[in-house]
Amino acid sequence: MCLIELKKSPKPVVSCAMSAKSCLNNGEIYTNSPLVKKARENILEFLLLNHPLDCPICDQGGECDLQDQSFFFGLSKKRFYSYKRIVSDKNIGPIVKTVMTRCIHCTRCVRFASEITGNDVLGIFGRGINSEIGTYITKTFQSELSGNVIDLCPVGALTSKPYPFLQRNWELKSIDSIDFSDGFGDTIQVYLKNNKIVKILPSYNAITKTLNWINDKTRFSFDSMFSPERISHSFICTGNNKTIFSTTWKMLFDEIFTCLYFQDHLNRHFLKINSLIIIFSSNLSLEVLNLLNILAKKYSFILLRKLERFQINTDLETNFITNVLTDPLNLKTSDLCFIVSINTRYECSSLNLKIKQRFLKGNFKVVSLGSLLNLTFPITYLGINLKTLKTLTEGNNFFCQEFTSYYNPLLLSSSEVFQRKDSFSFSLLLQLLKYYINVVNKNTMCSSHIVHSSLNDFGLSHLTVFKSVSEADLEKSFGFFLINTNFRFSNLKKIIQFKLLNYFQNENNLATITIDQNKTVSDFFSSSLKKAYNVYSYFFLPNKVFFESNGTYLNTEGIFKKVTKIVASEKQPKENWQIIRKFFSYSKHITFVTNSKFNTRIVFNCNNMATFQSFICFQNYATKNLTNLTFWYTKNNVKIKKSLNQKYLYKSSKFFETKLRYWLDDFYIKGKDLSSRFSAVNIKLSKTLLNSSTNFI
Ligand code: SF4
Ligand code: SF4
Repeated sequence: MCLIELKKSPKPVVSCAMSAKSCLNNGEIYTNSPLVKKARENILEFLLLNHPLDCPICDQGGECDLQDQSFFFGLSKKRFYSYKRIVSDKNIGPIVKTVMTRCIHCTRCVRFASEITGNDVLGIFGRGINSEIGTYITKTFQSELSGNVIDLCPVGALTSKPYPFLQRNWELKSIDSIDFSDGFGDTIQVYLKNNKIVKILPSYNAITKTLNWINDKTRFSFDSMFSPERISHSFICTGNNKTIFSTTWKMLFDEIFTCLYFQDHLNRHFLKINSLIIIFSSNLSLEVLNLLNILAKKYSFILLRKLERFQINTDLETNFITNVLTDPLNLKTSDLCFIVSINTRYECSSLNLKIKQRFLKGNFKVVSLGSLLNLTFPITYLGINLKTLKTLTEGNNFFCQEFTSYYNPLLLSSSEVFQRKDSFSFSLLLQLLKYYINVVNKNTMCSSHIVHSSLNDFGLSHLTVFKSVSEADLEKSFGFFLINTNFRFSNLKKIIQFKLLNYFQNENNLATITIDQNKTVSDFFSSSLKKAYNVYSYFFLPNKVFFESNGTYLNTEGIFKKVTKIVASEKQPKENWQIIRKFFSYSKHITFVTNSKFNTRIVFNCNNMATFQSFICFQNYATKNLTNLTFWYTKNNVKIKKSLNQKYLYKSSKFFETKLRYWLDDFYIKGKDLSSRFSAVNIKLSKTLLNSSTNFI
């Protein structure tokens, strides 16, 4: 279809296979002459010879390049009356449906598989009329980016398997949103039909006029909204296994505050301060975090605790941010990337693609400290012990020489490393390494980047210092208020699960109340422990999922990402901020006698998101402005950090001789977002990945 006519050429030429220089030397080029039109018509006729007449039942209908081309250039008559060739369909995994008879052998999918995903699984075999696209030996297309072939196949040969025959392109409404499955929050397009999400595509890049690549988790996690495990009605479970379903919000909060009132009087009676611990995950929006902060400031019996224990020094933004993508010069000018305990392919696939692009341009080396990885391009391993980082810093490693000879090295690590007990030493080592590289090589500017694993991790660290939940908190608590969390998370598991039954059955523990603000019921409640569940009350508060809520997030690059509600939810669930607001307004009807905080000025009475956002703006304002005040180290002010050059600092700090392991062992269902683990497609993908890596299929 890219045939053009050159003035002195006897026949049409293929423009994409000709250099512009040789075309221009020839004088005149015609792109719309009768010869060109005829040639295109003939090519189309060839393409359609064996193409099935499937348009009415083809998922690509309405967005098919072949349809468009035949509409503009095609012949309206048919001249082929023989049998059409049939190609058998291939099974290349749970998300890509193949109808290979429709394939026009453009080989886009083959190039994508080989050049972008680094997995040479697809190829063309057979010659002439017997040419076929396939995997030769039946196997699945195993890559976290495999879903992109659905977008790039120009015809309906590769379409979406989980959602066949659902929609036509003209019936869909597209709305911009962001990806909630990693720390970057990449822009995506969400397609709706009858107020229901039917597909997610990457955002359109207006400059390059192309679609970006997104991973399969981003593309298909939305189906967790329709998961049977999602509970969209509130209920109360009281002692003796009595469950009250179909409760109203009023009844729910009346019950909760009766419990709180009773507990408050018990506190007074026993002269103790037992608290309600609010445990939240880091994927809450900034507005909700602000509101929780206000709540904790108003009542002394409320302890606000984050779920995970990150020991990151948040004094300087450079200690917990990454700007590899926002500042393109970082990757362009650098010729070394040192990745420490981070699987960039799974934890930040967009960043991994950029690093791969840079690697393919040449003069770029990737060095890894951690277990073996397949990042789809070659990397050099230094080891898996944290001790290796120490030897690098001390100058005792064979690789030190190389560090000093590279230009602008990038140090990239995951925020999950900061859950280690020796994370202080780790962060100190990284800083020292950066400092020494800058001192030894005067022409270089080494920068360190921390990639966060969930959407608002950076916002959480940026807003204020939240303490993480600990055993000491549990000892003086009378209950939990879980927000978007459950007992699967490692920190809670460590604290509670090993003695879960003991904890709730022990009379010394006063865990009388559990409020669960979530989409699904907590594990411990749905398990066999439910039978033993007769000493405390359980309140389930259904909240809305990501695409049903508004919110502001600060991604790992420090960029504000605003999300608007794109799907209306008809049933009982409310947005997180609305539930906390209700909690707030009910609390005003009770005088808590043991409350030692008299913040009567903190009042809260907003009915919609706009007023709510203006209300919390006074808190956001300060943090937003901090971004302009903080700075990156430049060559001139690096000397400020002279104090770091004291050897005793890291000699006296303790290291554990443990291996550096990646936290994300199952890309599809073990992420920090709770949604993807309830997505049917992700569960299938995870199973396929597991089967391909074991002997038991
Ligand atoms: Fe029609 Fe395009 Fe589907 Fe072929 S691939 S059947 S032309 S919609
Ligand atoms: Fe065939 Fe589609 Fe692959 Fe092109 S991208 S070779 S049409 S399957």
